[in-house]
Amino acid sequence: MKELLLSQNQFFEVDKITNGSYHPLSGFMTEKEFYSVIDKYTLPDGNIFSIPIFLDLSKEDADKLKINSKVKLLFDNNLIGEILVESIFSCDKKKCAKKIYGTDDSMHPGVNAFYKTKEIFIGGRVTIKEKLIHKLSQYELTPSQTRYIFKEKKWSTVAAFHTRNPPHCAHEWLQKKALESYDGLLIHPILGQKKPGDFLPMSVINGYQALISKYYPLNRVVLSALTISGRYAGPREALFHALIRRNYGCTHIIIGRDHAGVNSYYGKYDSQDLCKKYEDALGIKIIKYKEPYFCWVCNSITNKNECDHISSDPDSIEKVSGTEIRSLLSSGLRPPQHLMRVEVVEAIYSSNMFVK
Ligand SMILES: [Zn+2]
Repeated sequence: MKELLLSQNQFFEVDKITNGSYHPLSGFMTEKEFYSVIDKYTLPDGNIFSIPIFLDLSKEDADKLKINSKVKLLFDNNLIGEILVESIFSCDKKKCAKKIYGTDDSMHPGVNAFYKTKEIFIGGRVTIKEKLIHKLSQYELTPSQTRYIFKEKKWSTVAAFHTRNPPHCAHEWLQKKALESYDGLLIHPILGQKKPGDFLPMSVINGYQALISKYYPLNRVVLSALTISGRYAGPREALFHALIRRNYGCTHIIIGRDHAGVNSYYGKYDSQDLCKKYEDALGIKIIKYKEPYFCWVCNSITNKNECDHISSDPDSIEKVSGTEIRSLLSSGLRPPQHLMRVEVVEAIYSSNMFVK
């Protein structure tokens, strides 16, 4: 049997395929599945799926493979499982990038990463020898584990909060809004492969643990890492995020303005609109909150539904910008308390902050 060495990112993808995060997938996508997803937002069987999940390899490696043969999957010198090769294919990356990301511009970070994938893709069913373990496993729950927890807690509604950064005060405001309307909250930061300048996984986890332990009703919140990578594919990726959280047993998900977007490639409400369109077919409801901001007159985080100062006294409004908070932290400064809790800042400073 032939062997294939997996990258860290591919290892995480095998984990998500086999633990049910990417249900109904049971393997990497075949050519037929790949095109069905990028052309129609569905798998050939009609199930909604928006992001292609493929296994890329060099032409040299692919030339050794035959359809219907099994290939061993190795990571870090360990045999972790195998794939039954059902499909070997390549694609016109420029054309496909346009469909997936809405642009073929190589300045777009998702497009750029897609262009860097190897030239051949293989698809087929994946099986593993045993549950995959990695350095964030102790912080990561599987879909069956979260479903079990939600059932034990008798939550009939669970809202998911997607993020990739440590929490600032506007995040806290959104999460607490959700706690007013739903039985439970799953805080589910994506902590898979990161790019330079991103927060390291432990900054995000430490920041959240500090916030939750002091300021949240502990019996109503579950924090779990999710080791997938960000694709910056805007609306398509927002739909993918919703699908994953459905698989984890959530009944609702908060989709933000320009969710999973980057720079100005997508319209502000495109992600919310696309998710809303598919919410019934997907089986998870979309929560859209008006964007929170800090108002110096109200002296609190608030939004348009609760405060008129945004029109009567616009100078009193301060945007809560994750980018600005990140830039303060990276200069060794402490963001002000009305934007980020002191405990969160201290927790972030307790370990290395950024991917180098
Ligand atoms: Zn106000």
